[in-house]
Amino acid sequence: MAALDGLPPLRDVIQRHGLDARKALGQNFLLDLNLTQKVARTAGSLEGATVFEVGPGPGGLTRAILALGAAKVIAVERDARCLPALAEVADHYPGRLEVIEGDALKTDFAALAPDGPVKIIANLPYNVGTQLLINWLLPAQWPPFWQSLTLMFQKEVGQRIVAQEDDDHYGRLGVLCGWRAEARMAFDVSPQAFTPPPKVTSTVVHLTPKENPIPCAVDKLEKVTQAAFGQRRKMLRQSLKPLGGEALLIKADIDPQRRAETLSVEEFCRLANCL
Ligand code: SAM
Repeated sequence: MAALDGLPPLRDVIQRHGLDARKALGQNFLLDLNLTQKVARTAGSLEGATVFEVGPGPGGLTRAILALGAAKVIAVERDARCLPALAEVADHYPGRLEVIEGDALKTDFAALAPDGPVKIIANLPYNVGTQLLINWLLPAQWPPFWQSLTLMFQKEVGQRIVAQEDDDHYGRLGVLCGWRAEARMAFDVSPQAFTPPPKVTSTVVHLTPKENPIPCAVDKLEKVTQAAFGQRRKMLRQSLKPLGGEALLIKADIDPQRRAETLSVEEFCRLANCL
């Protein structure tokens, strides 16, 4: 399709720079600039914001973020083959796109954050997406450096992020997200929207940080959720045995016969605080 920003269509960019998709890097590219704009718009107004993007690839989502008025995009890309294509985007938007070649898992995003508002927008590589989300959610310092996260995941991961108690998808990820953020699924994206198409449907998730999450130590919350959901079909008095079992549950005023998936985020925090 013709590009609205005066830059060449993404299909041409990919062909010219020989960017055949690599599975090991989770490369499923979005070539429809209407769709990348829809993803970027989910983050709300970008005017004056700095946007961190993980994995810009050939630059489809990056171009949408810039066209929607972000003051600056700082993008971390692991695949050096993409850098010349991204340099063309940087030339088109002078001073507004900085590309860092590197591994997002090893990037200290907080240290890169400027004083103003920061939004994170990414079509994440499926193999590192969940870990990146956890890294952004669990810093010791809260509120975090970011104002919102707008992230594309496999739909099943999106369902786990927004899940609440008594939901089949509820688990450790749902508790950690529910503790510190308001999370919602914005819209689904079919496999055919990507090149090459992945096996499953994707979904865009939008998260904003809670101003006052229930006070609770991150490491203790991780411990109880890991133990409880490690054996999710068992009663908590059994699954939490290594952490104190029945005595711990009674101290937290929780029926020892309940199962992990029935506990609210608030009850998990109570358990963590009793450890
Ligand atoms: N943003 C592009 C789009 O929407 O078309 C590409 C998205 S593709 C799903 C994921 C991108 O993340 C690829 O460009 C890949 O090279 C990059 N990537 C994979 N692992 C990475 C990592 N650990 N750190 C930074 N980028 C990574």
